[in-house]
Amino acid sequence: MRRVFNFSAGPATLPQDVLEKAQADILNWQASGMSVMEMSHRGKEFMSIAAEAEADLRELMAIPDNYKVLFLQGGASSQFAMVPLNLLRGKTSADYYRTGSWSKKAIAEAKRYCNVNVVANTEIDGSFTAVPEQGSVAFNPDAAYVHYTPNETIEGVEFPYVPDTGDVPLVADMSSTILSRPIEVSKFGVIYAGAQKNIGPAGLTIVIVREDLIGDVKDGAPAMFDYATHAKNDSMYNTPPTYSWYLAGLVFAWLKKQGGLMAMAEINERKAGKLYAAIDASNFYAAPAAVNCRSWMNVPFTLANAELDAVFLAEAKAANLVTLKGHRSVGGMRASIYNAMPEAGVDALIAFMADFEKRNG
Ligand SMILES: *Cc1c(COP(=O)(O)O)cnc(C)c1O
Repeated sequence: MRRVFNFSAGPATLPQDVLEKAQADILNWQASGMSVMEMSHRGKEFMSIAAEAEADLRELMAIPDNYKVLFLQGGASSQFAMVPLNLLRGKTSADYYRTGSWSKKAIAEAKRYCNVNVVANTEIDGSFTAVPEQGSVAFNPDAAYVHYTPNETIEGVEFPYVPDTGDVPLVADMSSTILSRPIEVSKFGVIYAGAQKNIGPAGLTIVIVREDLIGDVKDGAPAMFDYATHAKNDSMYNTPPTYSWYLAGLVFAWLKKQGGLMAMAEINERKAGKLYAAIDASNFYAAPAAVNCRSWMNVPFTLANAELDAVFLAEAKAANLVTLKGHRSVGGMRASIYNAMPEAGVDALIAFMADFEKRNG
């Protein structure tokens, strides 16, 4: 059976071991006689799947007991609204970093609910290639929270530090960097992530929220947009995305088997490091992101001659390397190399790039 190396930014490649496990379970999960897709979310079988997934995620990320883990729907894009609705708590403004396409979207949504104070804006001539220097940003002491995007998926720009916001809760859209390395959860008020990059299939959104930030939603907010609704009901107020939750659980178990997030960090740093090194060593390829904030997960790069882009993509595809086209807003190429991208895939891409350069450079 032919499997390609899929560099899609999301939905993204999944570990083959996980897909094989899902395949083995598909008709009959653990002698239940049912597929996980067919189970009641309130039955004891699915309850055990759900509980194990949460326990494994808590273990992987060392999530403290005073944080709830919510398994929701609606994508990271719904969190752009849920965060202000739940965290404003009578305040009228929030601080936002503006470092790329996803933080721009988060800002646009938050403006529907509050005054957005842009504390840093790294856009230059329509591009985002850097993050503010650590400690260079002044926060508003009256802000309800500070929001940032640790990894800008489209631009491939990643914060090499966690901003220190003092007593003001820090909110992070970790959609494309969660689980790529260990983090200190206690530095954050809310962490959220759509699953389809580094967790599992689309349809699931993980929210990790400090308990004291739950329970004072803005008047008139829908029940489904209130963290308390989901926290009180163990994410089963309504039917959760059961199959995505199960698949995410298989990914968490797989990550534990790989040695956890310390081991993943080492692998991810090595994978990204060798790809950037290959780009830097060539006069034919270039990576636009500033060296100190290059993403481990999304590696945008350009060819010296953009007229070769289409040929590059076609030949890459013929070599089993797919979905390398950059986001339409920035052009060029982008290799997304999340946890599930095997190192062999990165090696194959580097070898292909060298060969392409030899023939076209
Ligand atoms: C993909 C992505 C989103 C959007 O996620 P949806 O689940 O499609 O709403 C938001 N933020 C970041 C950083 C992303 O990478």
